[in-house]
Amino acid sequence: MKLSAIADKVLSLIFPERCLFCGDIADDKYICAKCGSEYKRIALPVCSVCGLGRNECRCFSGLLFDRTVAPFYYEGRAREDILKFKYRGRHEYGRYFAHCISLTVNEQYSGICFDAVTSVPAFKNGSEDFFDHAGYLGRAVAKNIKAVFDGGLIEKTNERVKQHTLKFEQRFENVRGLYAGRGNAEYKSVLLIDDISTTGATFSECARVLKASGAEKVYCAAAAFTPHRVF
Ligand SMILES: [Zn+2]
Ligand SMILES: [Zn+2]
Repeated sequence: MKLSAIADKVLSLIFPERCLFCGDIADDKYICAKCGSEYKRIALPVCSVCGLGRNECRCFSGLLFDRTVAPFYYEGRAREDILKFKYRGRHEYGRYFAHCISLTVNEQYSGICFDAVTSVPAFKNGSEDFFDHAGYLGRAVAKNIKAVFDGGLIEKTNERVKQHTLKFEQRFENVRGLYAGRGNAEYKSVLLIDDISTTGATFSECARVLKASGAEKVYCAAAAFTPHRVF
């Protein structure tokens, strides 16, 4: 063992890593066992396209991404903490979600080499008054999995009705033409990050523009999926 590794070990015994949320001793680098148990995880095995568990598959023909994965269901503690991260400046939750997305990506996309990681743009260009939560997650995931982050692959060209107010088919209609590709001929395999996915409509539309501008494969990852398809 190298001297620096021994020093790290000794320091971690004297000053153990603390849970980001409650301050208790962390089970891994980020969170204690109690806080970790409050997140509802998507259990394996999952559908190899939509990433949801048995009997929950929401695949249908017409999805334009190759695959989506997420560690959590968007309910309970995960939902509360994603909202705190997005709207209340609680970046420590973003760090934790990026860590969990990265583990899921390493596990479920093992063997896939990403030419770039990018994120779903939250706002129309020039209206970036708010925190770009998906960009934050995308950058952190790229760093964790040692891949290139390129935030300039997709542009949001319009603002429309918020997706969560719409029914299933309306969501696909609402996002059509909402994004444009900025050209990414050198990236054949792209990992696309967002915070949550409900129907896959946004991922699908962003995959369409990425493929139209050069990508061959678009793999998606979110922090959480809504547990039930919305009709
Ligand atoms: Zn805790
Ligand atoms: Zn499925």
